[in-house]
Amino acid sequence: MFDHIIGQEPVKKALSGAISRDELSHAYLFTGPDGIGKRTLAEAFARAVLCTSGEERPCGVCKSCVLSAKGIHPDLMHIVPEKGTIKIDTVRKMMHYFADVPRMEHGRLIIIEDSARMTAQAQNAILKSLEEPEPGHIFILTAESAGALLPTIVSRCACFSLMPLNNDQMAAFLRAQECPPSQRAAIISDSRGLPGRACEILREGDDNPLDDSAVAVIFDISQGKRASLFDFAEQAAAEDDKGMGAMKHLVRFFDEQLARALTEGSSELGTSPQAMTEASKILLELGTRLSANTNARLQWEGALLGIAKCFRAYQ
Ligand SMILES: [Zn+2]
Repeated sequence: MFDHIIGQEPVKKALSGAISRDELSHAYLFTGPDGIGKRTLAEAFARAVLCTSGEERPCGVCKSCVLSAKGIHPDLMHIVPEKGTIKIDTVRKMMHYFADVPRMEHGRLIIIEDSARMTAQAQNAILKSLEEPEPGHIFILTAESAGALLPTIVSRCACFSLMPLNNDQMAAFLRAQECPPSQRAAIISDSRGLPGRACEILREGDDNPLDDSAVAVIFDISQGKRASLFDFAEQAAAEDDKGMGAMKHLVRFFDEQLARALTEGSSELGTSPQAMTEASKILLELGTRLSANTNARLQWEGALLGIAKCFRAYQ
């Protein structure tokens, strides 16, 4: 049923079994890191549920399949964070819409992406719907981990944790994306089993000009020099996407340095493993703040100064 999705065999088996036996739960939670394929799976599952074919679902040709492929199925709603959060107003709007618009035949699906970004009020509103589910309504929540959701929400969901692809699966994925064979080995190693990350590398050609400057700034900081960080913060703030890309690049850089420090006893950076772990945490928090559309230059400066402080504290 989900042949075009590579990997996640146990999850696909459980979901297609539930569809064929018509034993659908009214809420699902897909967890896993950014880029692992939670949205792709949620959309494929929704399409299969909504398909009206009696045979292979999704058939791709019935009215439901055509509408879902165009992203205009009246019974399929997507909620995504706006400025980093999902507010109760968004949840209410969705509920009003569903109360007003008559549905087609196969139930109704609400995909809430990055659901941990729901405010407490929004989570409580969803919880009410989960406690007294409308017949045929199915919620599909995605989140990096279940930890930031109310335990009462999690306990009402059928939970599936998505696993990174192994190298063979990633090679198959890259073949399907028509990735040139010469690039495959490097992408397999850089994408760490995350198909979304592999697509990102393919799209960007992985040559964000800010990546190298970001690493240079970290080396400066490790030597007690701070002047370059202010220029960098200004540049990174001016280029939204590239700034976010540079943040992710730095997280990977610290991961690599940390792995090297732990296996070889030292890293190029010359700082302690503890300092590198703390720096990664600071960068991940920076990512959250940047997606919340706060003042990016100040956030970058704060994060880089925080890293400087860590380096000094854990020499
Ligand atoms: Zn169909």
